[in-house]
Amino acid sequence: MSDRFISTKYRTDCYHCRALADQQIQATPNRADVTCENCKATRVFVPLIEDVDETGMFTRPGPWPAWSLAVPAVCRNCGVDGLHDLVVSCRHITVRCRNCRFTHLFRFSLEYMAPDKPDEQTSGIVDGHATCP
Ligand SMILES: [Zn+2]
Ligand SMILES: [Zn+2]
Repeated sequence: MSDRFISTKYRTDCYHCRALADQQIQATPNRADVTCENCKATRVFVPLIEDVDETGMFTRPGPWPAWSLAVPAVCRNCGVDGLHDLVVSCRHITVRCRNCRFTHLFRFSLEYMAPDKPDEQTSGIVDGHATCP
């Protein structure tokens, strides 16, 4: 079974380079990240909890505009291959199965810019989100 859970794209203004570009969203049980295909700025999110969301959503969208997508994926809880609600906000990513409401919640961890050279692995890492209030 593949470790990949969600892989999709969302086209919007990049928070970093401000260009209209595809933002590649990848989520696995262990990590989720969002990468701008134009400038390669990447935000990394780490899992916080996995639980069944009874009330609606774990997190409400913050001041940063949230992206709401419906993405097909195989649920890790009920096993149904169906649509999941994927919400990407400034500090959190949630992935929720529409069938059983099982939800993965990821917390923002760090962001980095793609290094100009391969040996500059750590260039540009920042530990906060520049565009977050
Ligand atoms: Zn960008
Ligand atoms: Zn499910």
